[in-house]
Amino acid sequence: KKVIFSGMQATGIITLGNYIGALKNWVSLHEAYDCLFSVVDLHSITIRHDPAQLRKRSRDLLTLYIAAGLDPEKNIIYYQSHVPAHAELAWILNCYTYMGELNRMTQYKEKSEKNEDNINAGLFTYPVLMAADILLYQTDVVPVGNDQRQHLELARDIATRFNNIYGEVFKIPEPYFGEVGARIMSLQEPTKKMSKSDENVNGFISVLDEPDVIMKKVKRAVTDSDREIRYSEDKPGVKNLIDIYSVMTGTDIENVVNHFEGKGYGDLKKEVGESIVEGLRPLQTRFKALSADKAYIDEVIKSNGDRASYLAHKTLRKVKKKVGLPQ
Ligand code: ATP
Ligand code: MG
Repeated sequence: KKVIFSGMQATGIITLGNYIGALKNWVSLHEAYDCLFSVVDLHSITIRHDPAQLRKRSRDLLTLYIAAGLDPEKNIIYYQSHVPAHAELAWILNCYTYMGELNRMTQYKEKSEKNEDNINAGLFTYPVLMAADILLYQTDVVPVGNDQRQHLELARDIATRFNNIYGEVFKIPEPYFGEVGARIMSLQEPTKKMSKSDENVNGFISVLDEPDVIMKKVKRAVTDSDREIRYSEDKPGVKNLIDIYSVMTGTDIENVVNHFEGKGYGDLKKEVGESIVEGLRPLQTRFKALSADKAYIDEVIKSNGDRASYLAHKTLRKVKKKVGLPQ
């Protein structure tokens, strides 16, 4: 079987964007591949955070993976920080990555603009840690949202560079982007992507938001001053709502547009809101039940972390040997 690796940061409760762009795709792929799904908590500390909150969010995120339908018997669902090989390989790969390459990363530019008082080295080398995450497991396929395209390209470049020097050490990973809605936009600024770390909570829908909160946030979504429901780049707010409705109801874009013909923005928002509430309901119900089962989640964390460690060390040992670190 081919190997899939993917992860999410515990910087907040995951959004509808994370769900549509990543988690939902993971669930559709997880039977056919050997999958590792990580809570990338080491990435989460690149921005200022509250320790107790990070701990809770990490656990909630891991629980959400299982609630969404990922299987900790067949897949490996674990905390990145429980496998020290990630940090070790990241250090080594840092020495094979150029400043110029990292300078070009748009996520770094965007995040450092938003966190001017804390532009730390971890934020800068974030893509190298991500490369390490992926390359440690000889990953074939990485299902991510479109916003991670550039990071994945870099991971491929680093792996290729390393292999050119030392021989075939890393598998070169392929990206997998879901078709529709690989990039869900902010409800408040529809030209920017929806992000769970957004300060404006009205910009995103969290997958654990209560139905009335979801309805309210969609109602407040920024659209435009005309009235026509059209799917077009020059109407980013409306386009985003159509994308969301399309994914949540499993209807293609053309049929969604036909469905809303002659209706107003009020109707659109109401139906989009309802499609989200219904689409997330099963996930929310399972999340509640799983969260209550502390012993089960603890057991998953322990056993799956051990399985990840075992695999990671196989690659790390090889890398250390190649670069001449003593065995
Ligand atoms: P942060 O603001 O902390 O970076 P985030 O919402 O961008 O949070 P990540 O943990 O960075 O979430 O990304 C997790 C996964 O979700 C990645 O695969 C990423 O590509 C995907 N993703 C993130 N935002 C979106 C979005 N708006 N639309 C579709 N996919 C997304
Ligand atoms: Mg992100």
